Amino acid sequence: MDFSACFLGVGSARQSSLGHACCLIEKQQRPWLMIDCGPDSLARYAAFTHETLPAAVFITHLHYDHMAGLEQLFFQCCLSRPAAMPTLYIAAALVPQLCHMLAHTGLAEGGKNVWDCLQLVPVVDSFWHQGQRLSIYPVRHHQAGSAFALHMPGLFFFTGDTRPIPEILHHQVGATETIFHDCSLKGNPSHSGVGDLLYEYDTRVLSRMRVYHYGSLQEADKIRAQGLQVVRCQERIILGISSAQREWV
Ligand SMILES: [Zn+2]
Repeated sequence: MDFSACFLGVGSARQSSLGHACCLIEKQQRPWLMIDCGPDSLARYAAFTHETLPAAVFITHLHYDHMAGLEQLFFQCCLSRPAAMPTLYIAAALVPQLCHMLAHTGLAEGGKNVWDCLQLVPVVDSFWHQGQRLSIYPVRHHQAGSAFALHMPGLFFFTGDTRPIPEILHHQVGATETIFHDCSLKGNPSHSGVGDLLYEYDTRVLSRMRVYHYGSLQEADKIRAQGLQVVRCQERIILGISSAQREWV
């Protein structure tokens, strides 16, 4: 049971009390890779791990509720002693826009560039992180090619913000991955709703799906009542085991 996932935030962009969606992948219950970094993610990371900064972050897309924390990450890295230099993985197609969004970030004193403090790794199809290969896939969230899912074969598939993507999940995912999927009670042109997931996916996928990015705890209860499994904040989910095995963990 080497790998687990723990969401530091499970809420939608409008729901700050549940935290902005952010998932910490752990190895042997130690921080391994943080997925997305919203305005509250670093504070939640520090409170949960008792560590100051994540060593590696993957950004799914450039909406502020998923990446606004990068400015604070830069500032804290600049000021940390000894110096910290987290690795930042992001789709290569998003790098120009990310550079523009961070272009005006800088310390009044210190003379540091953003990329002096963050180790940028542009990703085309896949990347290596500490000996493990992870793949990215473009998903359905506004403009084509502007948001990406993250897949660690055998362990997990994290959709990020998206409409249903059966063309990917029915064909690219194996038998043991836990699928973390965007879901609100009702869908909209940017996000998935319960009815969308139940209509678009077969039972093989739905049985391994855990949903996040919902609007309230009441909404989570209503999603559960329709048969989907809902991620709770700070719940540790063991990765890499089948549904049958999961019953016994
Ligand atoms: Zn978004």
